[in-house]
Order: sequence, then structure tokens, then C-alpha cells
Amino acid sequence: MLLKLRKNLAPADRDALFGLCRELGLEPRTLTGVSGGVELVDLIPTDKAGVDPARTLSLLNDQFAVASIVDAGPASERFARANGQPDTIVRVGEAIFGGGHVSLVAGPCSVDEEDVLLDVARRVKAAGATLLRGGVHKPRTSPYSFQGLGDDGLALLGRVREEVGIAVVTEVLEPGDIAKTREVCDMLQIGSRNMINTPLLREVAKAGMPVLLKRGMTATSKEFLLAAEYLLSGGCKEVVLCERGIRGFDSATRNVLDLGTVAHLKQATHLPVIVDPSHAAGRADLIRPLARAGVAVGCDGLIVEVHPYPMRAKSDAEQAISPDLFAEIAGDALTMCRALGKTLIAPSADSVATPEAAAPLNYIS
Ligand code: PEP
Ligand code: MN
Repeated sequence: MLLKLRKNLAPADRDALFGLCRELGLEPRTLTGVSGGVELVDLIPTDKAGVDPARTLSLLNDQFAVASIVDAGPASERFARANGQPDTIVRVGEAIFGGGHVSLVAGPCSVDEEDVLLDVARRVKAAGATLLRGGVHKPRTSPYSFQGLGDDGLALLGRVREEVGIAVVTEVLEPGDIAKTREVCDMLQIGSRNMINTPLLREVAKAGMPVLLKRGMTATSKEFLLAAEYLLSGGCKEVVLCERGIRGFDSATRNVLDLGTVAHLKQATHLPVIVDPSHAAGRADLIRPLARAGVAVGCDGLIVEVHPYPMRAKSDAEQAISPDLFAEIAGDALTMCRALGKTLIAPSADSVATPEAAAPLNYIS
């Protein structure tokens, strides 16, 4: 149910209305970005039973604070895009996602050596990335695979973040990871394997930080959006969704990049949606075309696994690309954003590492 409030409403009148809504079992949510000084409020049913639609409507109609009931239909969840609602814009460091802004996230699958991370961070930033990725608590399929550097890796990420001047996103696997991760990072990632981990979603929602939520590998778009709803309803306003491919039957690629769902999500939700061509393809040679496809379908950003020595990456080596190839992808994104009337966000000129500072290593692509 969508209400239009009277203009210049006194706070006490708004509080009284919101109190009544809550008594009726409806949680009020003010929609942002509505033009013309109009205040629209969406009412979302809570678990409280006994909401009688007819009685609710007549009670609300009688309220001084309500100018009109715009839509008496069933209330929508917080993720849903109301008619004409603009994109939510999420800012992380210099990155901006949504509202016509496209940002690039890049870095290794997992953090390994400090000089390697420093080098790749400088190079991806010089190529146009505004956010550095790098896992330290890794959700590996096999218990015998590299599990990440853990807390030592967090300290390392923090040092590289300061040295290079780039915001950092890293994955949290359990609630106990959150406090220490927020000390050194700018955005928390919830990985594909944890998309349905509701205790983790609830705790991350309380962290007061932007969240990158990856789609579960067998999740429908509705399940994905409802996972985001856990974050939004728990108090997190800055959620970026990431399509990273779903399970298919063809082993030619690691996953199936679901571009149709990216297009659908851009309609169904106001939240930014980014594309991860790396986990979708699972192969370095397909990252560039899939990245182009993601931008073409309307995503708000790309997240790409980049390593200066791809074959030496401790996890997901087959899909790691060189910084040089990442620079080509950034060039594609710029061309495509211009054609689409969007803005590709670049790191500010004074914060980009000089070529000298970024040049010590040779690359094997
Ligand atoms: C990752 O980003 O390295 C990762 C583990 O991704 P996903 O959760 O999509 O598998
Ligand atoms: Mn990975």
C-alpha cells in the first residue's frame, strides 16, 4: 500500500500516523528520490496478524496526515522498485553504483603475498578500478584447498588500502568476521554459498556498511531479492547485488551468466546490480566478452578477478586475468558507457598511482 502524505507535515503528525500503521501491523517506509517535495510512504506488512484491508483503508483515509492512498494494493518489499522510483545509488570510497553510474571492482580471488597485492592494486586502479577486491576468509568447496590468509590477510588488505588509496571489499564467512573486517574494509561481501545464511545476513545488516550480495548459484531471482530484503529490513540501506552465474549443465563454462536476470533485476529492484564475469566463465579467455555483455545489458558495475601472475593465484587461477587485460576491459566499459549515456567512474586523478610506482613486475597473461 502506497500513501501520499500532506506537504509540510509536522513531525508529530507523521509520528502519529506511523504509530497507527505499526499498530495495524504495517511498517512504514518513506520512499527516497521522489521529486516535487512529495512524500510517499510504502506500508509493508509485518508478522503481526489480523490486518483487515477494508478497516485499514478506512482508518488511513481518516488520517489528517494522509493526502491520498496512491495504491491500495498489497505492500511491496523494501527491495521492490515502486512505479517511477529512481535507482538507489551506493557509494563506496570513490566507487558509485546505480543511477547511471558504473564502477569497476578488481583484484585477486584471494589475497596472497603483500607485494603482489600492492602491485595488482596499483595496476587495477591505474586502469580505472575504484574498488579493490580480495578474499582472506575463503569459502572453498574442498577443505583441502587454500582457505585464505585469514586475519593476517585482513591486516595486509588494510596496509594496501592505505598505501594505494583504494577502497576494499572482502568476504565475511561468519558473524565473528564482521567486527575485525570493518576495521580495514569499506564494503562487506556475502558470497554465493552464504546467500541463504540468514543469521549472517541479519548480522551483516547491522554492521552499518555497504554490502555486496552475490547470488546463490541455484537461487531464483526472487530468492536473491529476498536475501537482500534480510539486509534492508535489518537496517542496511546500501546493498549492491551481484550476478555471478548460476549452475548449468554444460561444463564448457563454470556457470551460466544469467543476463536475462540482470535485465529483470534492473526493473524489479531499485538496488544496483553488478556482474561478475570471472565466476560465471571460470575461464580467463571468456572474461572480456562476458564483461562487455554485462555492461550492454545495463549493469551498474563489474567485479573481475585479476592477478599479476594468473597461473600462480592460490584460488581460481583458471579465471584470473592479467592487469593488462583488465585495462582492455576498462576501455571497453568506457566506450560502452559513453554509447549508453552512462558514466564510468574513474579514480580521481590525484589518487592514481604513477606508472613508475606501478611498474616493477613483469606479467604473464
Ligand atoms: C569470490 O568472489 O571469490 C567468490 C568466492 O565468489 P562466489 O561467492 O560468487 O563464488
Ligand atoms: Mn574467486
